[in-house]
Amino acid sequence: MSIEVFTSDFLVIGSGIAGLTFAIKASDLGTVHIVTKKKDFDSNTNYAQGGIASVFDPHDSIESHIKDTLTAGAGLCNETAVRILAESGPQRVQELINWGAHFSTRKNPNGSVSLDLGREGGHSYNRIVHAKDLTGQEVERALLDEIARRKNIRVFENHTAVDLLTQHQLKLTGKQINSYNNIRCYGAYILDNTTGVVHLFTSPYTLLATGGIGQVYLHTTNPAIATGDGIAMAYRAGALIADMEFIQFHPTSLYEPGHKERAFLISEAVRGEGAILLNSRGERFMEKLHPLKELAPRDIVARAIDMELKRLGDQCVYLDISFKDRDFLESRFPTIYHYCLEAGIDISKEPIPVVPAAHYLCGGIVSDLNGRTSISNLYVSGESACTGVHGANRLASNSLLEGIVFSHRAFCHIKEIFAPDNKDALPQFPQWDKKGTFDLEEWILIQHNIEDVKRVMWDYVGIVRSNRRLERAARRITLLEEEIQDYYRRSTITSRLVELRNLVTTAKLIVQSAMLRKESRGLHYNTNYPQQDESLNGSYIISSQQQPLFMKISEISFT
Ligand SMILES: Cc1cc2nc3c(=O)[nH]c(=O)nc-3n(C[C@H](O)[C@H](O)[C@H](O)COP(=O)(O)OP(=O)(O)OC[C@H]3O[C@@H](n4cnc5c(N)ncnc54)[C@H](O)[C@@H]3O)c2cc1C
Repeated sequence: MSIEVFTSDFLVIGSGIAGLTFAIKASDLGTVHIVTKKKDFDSNTNYAQGGIASVFDPHDSIESHIKDTLTAGAGLCNETAVRILAESGPQRVQELINWGAHFSTRKNPNGSVSLDLGREGGHSYNRIVHAKDLTGQEVERALLDEIARRKNIRVFENHTAVDLLTQHQLKLTGKQINSYNNIRCYGAYILDNTTGVVHLFTSPYTLLATGGIGQVYLHTTNPAIATGDGIAMAYRAGALIADMEFIQFHPTSLYEPGHKERAFLISEAVRGEGAILLNSRGERFMEKLHPLKELAPRDIVARAIDMELKRLGDQCVYLDISFKDRDFLESRFPTIYHYCLEAGIDISKEPIPVVPAAHYLCGGIVSDLNGRTSISNLYVSGESACTGVHGANRLASNSLLEGIVFSHRAFCHIKEIFAPDNKDALPQFPQWDKKGTFDLEEWILIQHNIEDVKRVMWDYVGIVRSNRRLERAARRITLLEEEIQDYYRRSTITSRLVELRNLVTTAKLIVQSAMLRKESRGLHYNTNYPQQDESLNGSYIISSQQQPLFMKISEISFT
């Protein structure tokens, strides 16, 4: 197979809600290449159950959505970004409906039909737009149908982005790349997973929409694709990265003995419908811990479960919704109901065994309010981005919303500067250099490295952290990184090797950020600093080009 150069007006890396939304809009301006390592349905978007937070109830208000988001964010949200999120929500959700997404509706007493709005933890009103418990799947279906109708879009499935194209690959040195302000993105090296050939995808505008990082941890609700690729690629290219210490652990994933690549999520919406948490002694422990009980913010519920497990030496706690009628449960939560039934649990008769699992990354590649990163012509949206919307803790169901809102804003920003001939002036990049690499014979070493990274992160950088655990994690991750870099340089490239390299880089960024934050705040809980320190109302900004900075995300702007 020969190496090819694929040039388009827009390169979109990732085919979840953020990438697809942007691609649909960008196709009105020019040609779009979507590159995705996805096979079948692997994206976080596809697994989203609960829904999309947005104000549709006349008793609800934008101000209330903003207030709830800021409260969850524990003082670190970028308030302007939060306002944009809440204000644009209804319009963007309506756009999904216009593209064909079917959300659950209900009949009102006066006969009219309106969206059926669910309730989730931390929200003061019912504002979760959902498609039963298959919201993400329905959204992705509608977006993919719309993509299929657009002639300007070409989708490259089973392709893995390896590295971004910047001046670095042109072998420019010195002044031209010594400051992050000078770096510019022209596309990416992309591996065709079927042929093993690395092609050049060039474009004046690249959007990273590669999703989350859950696979860095041993137990996660995220699918196999969530290896932090976009964040690691952007970091290597010199982008600013922030808030990596704030990992949301979902309190309730199904406890199934034996390790699974992806833990099945028991959506917060189940607690929204009244489910209660019990320990192995049948005691309801959330009542004494928080006035919102089971609907307290996720970090509080996850820590409470962690505490109960450690206190009683148990493997799981129990979520009980068995007091609801079977027909209701089957219709409101069809996926959960049937998945549990297949696992031998009838949720209408017995409590569900649950444990916390790594679920969502609040931080990521720093972006301004228009999705721009610190690298010129590189945009980011969705879970890979750090817009400052989530601060130290994400409010439930704000992430799908963030993807559609900020992809729209990135598009609007580019639309102002777009010219159809932009792509004619792209520099010529060297082909992927595979000299000196060999087929890896000892695959077992890689597999062990992946497990080592996941185990270290789970044991030492999980729900409850301490200085000693973080120092231990830092030492081990540094060693693993050296070993992995060595394989990477010597081995023929494969998607799994690319992911392993990105996993360890992402783990390093999480550990580094967690060590920098000398307080407990939001999702970052360190037993050495159990209190929030008001003098630390800012973010640690990490880059491969300079020492970490401490500042508010809202103070960052890019020229
Ligand atoms: C089980 C579960 C339930 C959730 N429930 C909700 C919910 O109810 N409400 C809510 O708001 N949020 C929810 N979330 C979070 C939300 O789903 C995600 O934050 C959101 O879908 C992220 O969208 P995205 O487009 O950024 O990334 P994703 O949907 O994860 O898509 C990432 C894409 O990037 C591709 N990719 C990654 N790396 C590469 C690479 N190197 N090369 C090429 N392609 C690459 C992947 O193949 C994938 O197509 C849930 C998450 C999970 C896991």
